[in-house]
Amino acid sequence: MATRIIQGDKKERELNFIEKLYLPEILKGMAFTFKHMFRKQVTMEYPEVKPNLGPEFRGRPVLVEENGQERCVACGLCARVCPPLAISMQAAETPDTKERYPAVFEIDMLRCIYCGLCEDVCPEEAIVMSDDYDNVYLTRKDAIYDKQRLLVNKARLAPRLNWLAKFRNPNFGDVYNFQKSNNIHSVRDRQQEVVAQH
Ligand code: SF4
Ligand code: SF4
Repeated sequence: MATRIIQGDKKERELNFIEKLYLPEILKGMAFTFKHMFRKQVTMEYPEVKPNLGPEFRGRPVLVEENGQERCVACGLCARVCPPLAISMQAAETPDTKERYPAVFEIDMLRCIYCGLCEDVCPEEAIVMSDDYDNVYLTRKDAIYDKQRLLVNKARLAPRLNWLAKFRNPNFGDVYNFQKSNNIHSVRDRQQEVVAQH
């Protein structure tokens, strides 16, 4: 094999005649590309085609809307636990039933770190992580989501709500003797409650 000293002990093989033509390498490259044209496609035409991320994905936090109103009872736990203080709210009471509700509820999405702690602490399953992730803001004000922008219908959030019901705190009550009939989100069977009301 012909060798040529470049410098020191580094050696480079000299190309033979065929190799100097580069054609075989070009043909090899084209054959490789052609072969991959018939393989299963692993890329997708985002954003026209969006991936199915599954219910375990934690996207933008949203408020659950049920029967035309928010589930939230304005307890303030999510705002208190939120590490970057992204949640602001103002509680109010309905005049007739004295139920608490958030008159104002805002999340500053520029602060949100998608940690999911708000969802973890909520006793009403009123705030959950959605599958919405491609949010764009043109101004800082635009990134502050008010209650109307945060509300998402329960049916649309069903995959995440069902996933939470199945996997959140599966051993709750095993160590300590809690009353499972208590108003605890992780053991509460909302379906049964609906049946019982009718
Ligand atoms: S996901 Fe985390 S950072 Fe975002 S609002 Fe909830 S608690 Fe705050
Ligand atoms: S923890 Fe749940 S119920 Fe309490 S204020 Fe937050 S969203 Fe509303």
